[in-house]
Amino acid sequence: MKASIRVLLIGAAGRMGQAISRAAEAQKELAISARCDLGDSIEEAIGNCDVVIDFSHADATEQNCATCLTSGKPLVIGTTGQSAEQLRTIEKTAKSIPVLLAANFSVGVNTLFWLTRKAAEMLGDGFDLEVIETHHRLKKDAPSGTAKRLAQILAEVRGLDEKNFAHGREGLIGERPQNEIGIHSLRAGDVVGDHTVIFATPGERLELTHKASSRETFAVGALRAAKWIVGKPARLYDMEDVLGL
Ligand code: NAD
Repeated sequence: MKASIRVLLIGAAGRMGQAISRAAEAQKELAISARCDLGDSIEEAIGNCDVVIDFSHADATEQNCATCLTSGKPLVIGTTGQSAEQLRTIEKTAKSIPVLLAANFSVGVNTLFWLTRKAAEMLGDGFDLEVIETHHRLKKDAPSGTAKRLAQILAEVRGLDEKNFAHGREGLIGERPQNEIGIHSLRAGDVVGDHTVIFATPGERLELTHKASSRETFAVGALRAAKWIVGKPARLYDMEDVLGL
């Protein structure tokens, strides 16, 4: 049977690109119809697809958004590390075509997002908030997109913003301000992706941890998102929309 949904994969030669190609081989209703990496023309490849999946580099964001906009093709973005300006481009593009931006495509991490919000709501202002992430030595951006999203959720619940984020600590830093959200990035070996959110107050500590042991979980989630977004109206979606969380 011929696959009905054709995917253009950007960043196809990378770790995630290869994982997505492998995962797509097991799918009947979807196939990777074109692959692009650094130096390839996306404009030439895009005609022959129904949806675009991007796991490349934040520097590709503007070009990818412009090409999808011109051709009217939905865009699933797994790439992390975008600047504020690149994120604005994504938001603007999503006013005209469906765009899904997810810092993490695993079901477990999206459940962690949900649990983090609930825990922050239940525990209130008296708990110190810290986010710790560990990734493999080749990861290019820090903190991870997932850690940023976790910190953003904590900030939303506590009425805080990025000014309250402490990216690591060094020196004579003084006492911990109550409204600080600590974010710490470890880089070591071949770790696929670990994230822990700590809620601590004198006398007790709650830790929520997710550990990814294979990129397949992200790849399968990205393909699920690609199938889901075809035919959807223009809007900026995230993985929680796909999972109905
Ligand atoms: P990688 O370095 O192994 O692969 C990236 C690939 O993109 C490389 O082959 C590179 O040549 C290519 N590339 C770079 N610039 C490009 C451009 N302008 N146009 C086309 N291709 C380009 O990295 P990776 O581990 O596969 O991760 C890729 C991205 O996905 C990173 O931003 C990473 O943080 C993110 N990521 C997201 C999730 C998620 O669930 N959302 C999971 C894992 C990784």
